[in-house]
Amino acid sequence: MRIILFGPPGCGKGTQAIFISEALAIPHLSTGDMLRSAVSSGSEIGLKAKNIMESGGLVSDQIVFSIVEQRIAKDDCEKGFILDGFPRTVNQAEKLDSLLSANNKLDYVLRIKVDEEEIIKRLIDRAREDDKPDIIKNRFKTYNSETQPLIPFYEDRKILFNINGMQEIEKVSEDIKKIIGVF
Ligand code: ADP
Repeated sequence: MRIILFGPPGCGKGTQAIFISEALAIPHLSTGDMLRSAVSSGSEIGLKAKNIMESGGLVSDQIVFSIVEQRIAKDDCEKGFILDGFPRTVNQAEKLDSLLSANNKLDYVLRIKVDEEEIIKRLIDRAREDDKPDIIKNRFKTYNSETQPLIPFYEDRKILFNINGMQEIEKVSEDIKKIIGVF
């Protein structure tokens, strides 16, 4: 099963991805985690990504594509994967299509909906390096301008499902499992 977890920063994608990954025994691919580990390893990619991540902008498509392309090509992704944080732009979504062949198409885009006010609270509590108020503001701006257009993009394909993310973690998981037919 090929799943995209979609939603604004702090909506709970990472938490839910772990549950689905265990339930379906498919890997959880978080571009944010992959980029953060590149930054902490001091690799060339990490050096290029660092400043832009700290400002709340988007890392270049070229960097993100190369990471995703290499990861998806690994054997453990044969039966499927959960993408968390990718695609984040329509250009990335089109690139993803080109990586997937006709018989391994996307099954679900799960959109976790949470009020902006609640999200800001959660991000401030999380206190990651890029969870400072000014940077959060930028990440929202980026989300609204670059990432929101993916909603109609996947709605048109009839694979977008809305999930209420303003519930307890377990309840959100249950709702997801009902949609993807796993209990
Ligand atoms: P969150 O879901 O809380 O926004 P992530 O861990 O997904 O956080 O991403 C953190 C940062 O990594 C983003 O703000 C962005 O700079 C960079 N990043 C992650 N995924 C992508 C992507 N697909 N394209 C461009 N930049 C990305």
